[in-house]
Amino acid sequence: MSKILQLQNLGAKQNWIGGSFHDSSSGKSISVISPYFNKEIATIPDSNSDDIDLAVKNANTAFPAWAATNIRDRAQVMFNLKSIMEKDIEHLAHLIALDNGKTVADAKGSILRGIEVIEFAISLPNMLQGESSNVGNGISCTMTHEPLGVVAGITPFNFPVMVPLWMIPISITSGNCFILKPSEQTPLAALKLAEYYKEAGLPDGVLNVVNGSQEAVESICEHPDIKAVAFVGSSKVAKIVYSRSTASGKRALCLGGAKNYMIVVPDADQDSTAKGLLASSMGSAGQRCMAASVTVAVADVDSIINQLVEEAKSFQLGVDMGTIVSKVALERITGYIDEAEAMGAKVLVDGRNPSPPEGYPDGYWLGPTILDGVGPEWPCATEEIFGPVLTIVRTETLESAMKIENENPYGNAAAVFTTSGQVAKTISESASAGMIGINIGVPVPREPFSFGGWNESKYGHGDITGRSGVDFWTNLKKVTSRWPESTETWKKYF
Ligand code: NAD
Repeated sequence: MSKILQLQNLGAKQNWIGGSFHDSSSGKSISVISPYFNKEIATIPDSNSDDIDLAVKNANTAFPAWAATNIRDRAQVMFNLKSIMEKDIEHLAHLIALDNGKTVADAKGSILRGIEVIEFAISLPNMLQGESSNVGNGISCTMTHEPLGVVAGITPFNFPVMVPLWMIPISITSGNCFILKPSEQTPLAALKLAEYYKEAGLPDGVLNVVNGSQEAVESICEHPDIKAVAFVGSSKVAKIVYSRSTASGKRALCLGGAKNYMIVVPDADQDSTAKGLLASSMGSAGQRCMAASVTVAVADVDSIINQLVEEAKSFQLGVDMGTIVSKVALERITGYIDEAEAMGAKVLVDGRNPSPPEGYPDGYWLGPTILDGVGPEWPCATEEIFGPVLTIVRTETLESAMKIENENPYGNAAAVFTTSGQVAKTISESASAGMIGINIGVPVPREPFSFGGWNESKYGHGDITGRSGVDFWTNLKKVTSRWPESTETWKKYF
């Protein structure tokens, strides 16, 4: 592996409030560790309610002028941002790789997906023209999308730029002022994003980044001047953030964890299916909510599994796959593999204790792992492992495969690999999930289609991107008008 990532210490990072960096008043800090090196690369503040309050005050001050700015000018900032990010993509991708553990190529891909949401926000002037109709004799009604005010987003470690970009561009182009609380594990890129926004012409205070952990999140949920909260992370925390935010009168949309199933039937195309299963389960080292981590193998699909195993064995760590985000996560994932083996699973590919790539001996490495002969009720087949582990559950009928998929409480994504239209139609109609792939292992709907799951993968209504995102970040205002018949004064002009 070529030396693509240098260990560097970026020092004590601050919060971004009102267009510049600020110390936190908490006096507490969090160490940011690079999973490539197992070394501290920066510290960030562990912010408290006073820091959130300062951000809210700045955002509130910026709101009237930003909301009054015409939407074309707001969209122009997004246009500028896209070009700044495209020019600096190498630098940003390296920052993401450094604190998250992704490969630089994977990090770049995730930035490009985030930029697609910026492009969608650039198109908002063409979408948010409102509606108007004559609803009665002499009576007209117009309906417009109005910003909510100060809003907030709380994001997970696994996509440090893409997930914030699911929220910020649509929210602020719609006229809101935003407070982002990024993951304390991967905070570096979000601070850079705030600087790009300033360079793009965003007025101070419209976007604020407050670092921290539980206290910062709870302060967001409770703050009386924050109107809406979007959250992306585990289901456990999604549920907490949803109930605390809505209890304090906020609008909330909280995307949670996932366990996604790929149903493979014997008529599936061997090569593209094996590659699709591998890319879905091992991409981003399995640390993504769209990773399909269970293959439900219907009847004899051994030729596909054999190819999958061979290709997984040829994976090069540091090239095809980065690291696990933290030591704790590495231990959790390895625990699932150990447990499945002890329960009788066949370990077709074993990623435990791999040889680290040269130059990165201390990284949190785990190779692709494939477990076969697993019972549908085992923890590795039902719980979110969030690592490069593919579990194979065998079954004889499509009906029982669908039952396995539908019994899982999550509902982010599901996929089917087949060359039969009838099978594809049956699965896509019956799967209890928000995003369905037909011969696609990572069925992320690209803009303008919206992103979001069902069941315990989401608390709240609607999706996070696309038109659904606009609905979340705005209120509808309806103006019904009737003007009196022309008076004597005006009649002379007609
Ligand atoms: P996490 O839930 O641990 O953390 C997410 C955010 O919540 C972070 O900003 C963190 O600081 C905060 N947080 C953590 N514990 C908290 C607590 N007790 N109280 C208040 N705030 C708290 O998630 P993670 O480990 O960073 O990310 C991985 C999870 O995110 C996985 O479950 C994955 O499926 C999910 N995810 C879901 C989607 C989706 O679209 N559904 C997308 C990406 C990631």
